[in-house]
Amino acid sequence: MSSTTAALHTPSELTFIGADEQTGIVVFQAASSHDAERVNTVALDTTNGAIICDCTGAEFGRVCWHQDHVVAAWEQGPAMQAARWLTEVALLNQGHKAAQMVKVYRERCGRPLGDDVTALVAARSEWRRRAARAAAEAAYAVVREWEGLSHSDRHIDLHFDGGRGEREYLAAQDVLGTQHAA
Ligand SMILES: [Zn+2]
Repeated sequence: MSSTTAALHTPSELTFIGADEQTGIVVFQAASSHDAERVNTVALDTTNGAIICDCTGAEFGRVCWHQDHVVAAWEQGPAMQAARWLTEVALLNQGHKAAQMVKVYRERCGRPLGDDVTALVAARSEWRRRAARAAAEAAYAVVREWEGLSHSDRHIDLHFDGGRGEREYLAAQDVLGTQHAA
């Protein structure tokens, strides 16, 4: 679903405000075009993709351009762009380093530095994206293999392997179905 005004705006109109490593939520703001006094705030939960906006349109249950563009604003931001091209090892290292810095600052100063928090949320966000993609690829491979089996091979699975192949096939379909719904 997309708002009627989505095409009139771009993700870069959303200003990054900050991230919260305890919830995984990232927050952006944009000045209201209707009311000079008002700043609209839109939040994206990077753990489950949930989006909430406090603008007038969203209050009346409409999808607003803030909601349409917040995922792209996060994905195109410097933290996610930096994480995107890291190797798996470098991504893990960056995540661990940021987590350590967040922990140290929280213990010694009461609050972590914004850049460390953003780097940590980005590392987790990118890691989750890669894990979901890997799970989907593995599930597709299982589905393709089962669907390529001959009639007699399926009988072998049923009679000699206790239907293990079919169970794995059904489980793989569940993975793909779940991910489609998400
Ligand atoms: Zn909005």
